[in-house]
Amino acid sequence: MKYKSIWLDNDLNDNITLLDKDIDLDVLIIGGGLTGINTLYNLKDSDLNIALIDASLVGHGVSGHTTGKITYLQELIYQDLEKLYSKNVAKKYYQSQIDAINNIVEVIKKEKIKCNLDKVSSFVFTTNKDEIKNIQKERDILKSFGVKVYEQFGNIDGLNSTYALKVDDTYVFHPIKYLYALKNICLKSNKKIYENTKILNIEKENDKYICTTDKYKITANKIVLACHYPFFTFPFIAPLKFSIEKSYITASKAKYQKYSLITSKNPTKSIRFYKDKDEYKIFLTNSSKICNNLNEENNFNNLINKTHCLNLSPEYIWKNDDILSVDKLPYIGRIQNENNNLLIGTAYNTWGMTNSFLAGKIISDIILNKHNKYENLFDPLRQKSLLTIPKYSENIYSNMKGYVENKLSRNKKWYSNNVEIKNINGEYIGIYKENNKIYKVNTKCPHLGCSLIFNEKEKTWDCPCHASRFDITGKCIKGPSKYDISYKE
Ligand SMILES: Cc1cc2nc3c(=O)[nH]c(=O)nc-3n(C[C@H](O)[C@H](O)[C@H](O)COP(=O)(O)OP(=O)(O)OC[C@H]3O[C@@H](n4cnc5c(N)ncnc54)[C@H](O)[C@@H]3O)c2cc1C
Repeated sequence: MKYKSIWLDNDLNDNITLLDKDIDLDVLIIGGGLTGINTLYNLKDSDLNIALIDASLVGHGVSGHTTGKITYLQELIYQDLEKLYSKNVAKKYYQSQIDAINNIVEVIKKEKIKCNLDKVSSFVFTTNKDEIKNIQKERDILKSFGVKVYEQFGNIDGLNSTYALKVDDTYVFHPIKYLYALKNICLKSNKKIYENTKILNIEKENDKYICTTDKYKITANKIVLACHYPFFTFPFIAPLKFSIEKSYITASKAKYQKYSLITSKNPTKSIRFYKDKDEYKIFLTNSSKICNNLNEENNFNNLINKTHCLNLSPEYIWKNDDILSVDKLPYIGRIQNENNNLLIGTAYNTWGMTNSFLAGKIISDIILNKHNKYENLFDPLRQKSLLTIPKYSENIYSNMKGYVENKLSRNKKWYSNNVEIKNINGEYIGIYKENNKIYKVNTKCPHLGCSLIFNEKEKTWDCPCHASRFDITGKCIKGPSKYDISYKE
């Protein structure tokens, strides 16, 4: 069994360039996940001097660990938006998702991208009788939008289900083949992509932004923050607006089927299939807030057991996390006022295939001074529904609770003999032993000071507050932390 994402096995990323001098740009895109690459792709024909920079390798963030369903049936999103805002907002969101799906398919066809795109049906289902009425509410909303919906009572393909709603014209694909194809198209259009180069700081000087890496300086008129979780706290104050959800995923050999499915609410189960030389069933479960269920050994073992219950033997296993917004709408656009040239695309509520595509289009339209009909819907400065106020308080409370609980239980009891956390002169030092070697790290996350937990399966130190990750040597492999945690005596 490989502890890695199926999409990143046999990695096809080549053509890697490092930044080797100071540069002056019109636009700097920070982050080469689907948001950054979609944005660069939309700007590839402009005369602007543009570069994309990634702290790691493009596609190796959340986008490389997704399940890669391209669908507008997103749990019960339309009734949630109707409740929080209005039917009009729900309908506009639906239209945005349909436009994104059609446009993704169009780009794949136009650019002749081989990314295992396949049209499948999507189900949202439940095993709980009391939940049926909620799914039927979603059915009625979708019907009122003119969508052809189907109902199914009883099991789906042997999977325990009481009631399901099905729609057609949704897709699955290989997200990384798609992303790398767009990367290569952008490179051919002479747009620059720098990898393994982290932005450590952004400052504004007159009308320009100055971004610094460990060695160089990038000056740009406009900055696109496509870095998933913003790595700075101000001015966006992300911890107040977002929560982070983690999930665990397996890929196991199984006969290919033309459907994908997801439960209407927690406890989440999500399935899709993938066919290349071999055929796989991709199974996601155990979703929870990142600050809950900190025993990663248990989380992975639990996933393996659940995968076995489906009569599957996992070949790949990994975890991933995504940002949830309090009002269920992504944040895409300017993060301050009209004249501000700091743009963001994030908080896709685990539906990032469509929403990162929309982000790429909206952000590039703003840069090119073009009108985009979805700009207001996703505007980070949008007036929030009053009904979200209690949700903000709930969010802040649960984030704070997670932070405090985590601090109080620093030396986790479930670690094996290879892992220890020791208080050395007031600092909590994580010690991991492997093959007679000892690796020491400082377990205080450099981002906002949360206590890191050790993930023995993937051999990483993980932040249970904002999802930064570090390898056993202390190197930061995922933000928002900008810094490593290696400990030197
Ligand atoms: C378990 C799971 C399953 C999912 N399944 C689906 C699905 O089936 N369908 C769907 O639509 N969506 C799905 N999603 C959501 C989707 O995968 C994400 O919303 C989307 O991939 C986010 O893309 P991104 O470009 O914003 O982030 P990322 O892919 O994380 O890209 C951000 C990039 O920024 C870089 N970066 C960060 N900080 C810096 C810095 N300081 N300097 C330079 N670079 C930096 C990182 O290295 C990274 O490469 C899922 C999410 C999860 C967690």
